Amino acid sequence: MAREIPYKIYLDESEIPTQWYNLRADMKNKPAPLLNPGTGKPLTAEEMSGIFCEELVKQELDNDTAYFDIPEEIREYYKTYRPSPVVRAYNLEKILDTPAHIYYKFEGNNTSGSHKLNSAIAQAYYAKKQGLKGVTTETGAGQWGTALSMACAYFGLDCKVYMVKVSYEQKPFRREVMRTYGADVTPSPSDKTSVGRKILAEFPGTTGSLGCAISEAVEDAVSHEGYRYVLGSVLNQVLLHQSVIGLETKTALDKYGVKPDIIIGCAGGGSNLGGLISAYMGQKLRGEADYRIIAVEPASCPSFTRGKFAYDFCDTGMICPLAKMYTLGSSFIPSANHAGGLRFHGMSTILSQLYHDGYMEAVAVEQTEVFKAAEQFARAEGILPAPESSHAIRAAMDEALKCKETGEAKNIVFGLTGTGYFDLKAYEQFNNGTMTDYIPTDEDLAAGLSRLPEVAG
Ligand SMILES: *Cc1c(COP(=O)(O)O)cnc(C)c1O
Repeated sequence: MAREIPYKIYLDESEIPTQWYNLRADMKNKPAPLLNPGTGKPLTAEEMSGIFCEELVKQELDNDTAYFDIPEEIREYYKTYRPSPVVRAYNLEKILDTPAHIYYKFEGNNTSGSHKLNSAIAQAYYAKKQGLKGVTTETGAGQWGTALSMACAYFGLDCKVYMVKVSYEQKPFRREVMRTYGADVTPSPSDKTSVGRKILAEFPGTTGSLGCAISEAVEDAVSHEGYRYVLGSVLNQVLLHQSVIGLETKTALDKYGVKPDIIIGCAGGGSNLGGLISAYMGQKLRGEADYRIIAVEPASCPSFTRGKFAYDFCDTGMICPLAKMYTLGSSFIPSANHAGGLRFHGMSTILSQLYHDGYMEAVAVEQTEVFKAAEQFARAEGILPAPESSHAIRAAMDEALKCKETGEAKNIVFGLTGTGYFDLKAYEQFNNGTMTDYIPTDEDLAAGLSRLPEVAG
């Protein structure tokens, strides 16, 4: 008999996972390997180790080991903000007048304001362990850069952040948080790198993109001794670290005998969603249980729903490895009026393969609808959600409203990835009624997709 469910399900410190779960171990069709753009051959560990830390290269390439021990130093840091609560959205249920039971896993309880710290701390730890001087990275909305700055401060590493120019200008406070933790922050595209100078020459006045900032950060890392590049999403290693989200969620819900019917997460590069679904998708892949899993993306950057499953560059500068993923083309730059993160043109190779094989669904939502959901959620539940997270809220509310029509008491679980305190410009637009939706036309998308690299497979 299930116990009555509290508003917040808290776990004990000892229930923070001691191992990360590697979803790939249970996938029959493994995600396609990253390719060297020069040779068209799978990237070797040796080639990768010029860009990434050694231990992270091992994690990146390992499709078979199901569990990786979490080093005690990382767990110690996790304890400062984990376990994160699973919350029963009783108030939202009441407002929606739905028979559905809505739960969310809240990852916004740390200064970076998102789940990204889960991987930042792991990546900084391995860089330090390898004796490196520092790391370079890109940041879009700023959460990843902030998380990495925090992690680097903790382990005493140098941190260089290339921040997408539109965010750098819209979110000066984010920048100052990063600088407070000791990071060096540069708006991208910049004239600090040759790829940045080239992009500026080709697209003068561009507000930047994640793909472009990635190119700059990689170039900076490979051209400076003792530096490596780290990435906050998309990569297999990041999904591995983010599995703590899903492992904790399952531990918490199992205590009350709650089995999700639908699991929902927003999808930018796929790391929070990959993490949230990890334990459940594992069961689904092993044929032990079934769940509906829904990825939610912005209609302005619709990689899953309107992209192509193909090899593509991860960056605009076309210097990074090729990944087989759902992509809009590495030259795709989402419209500047798109408020939140979730601006990346591609998607995790793991989630791309799972979507391709029919293990999950995807929906695209428009930004004013997303902010309507954010507003309702904030008023009901008290938390001011990040615009990214609000994509998941929108889809969860839509599913709960369907339950109202059918009278079904489904269990809906979604990932509340972070808070929106640095997104108030977007909230201002929404509140003033000046927010617009830009949905790319088929011609817009065809332009990016026509420039996909030619690769066999
Ligand atoms: C970065 C970010 C996302 C999207 O990234 P994923 O890798 O797709 O998870 C979602 N929500 C918040 C709050 C973020 O900071």
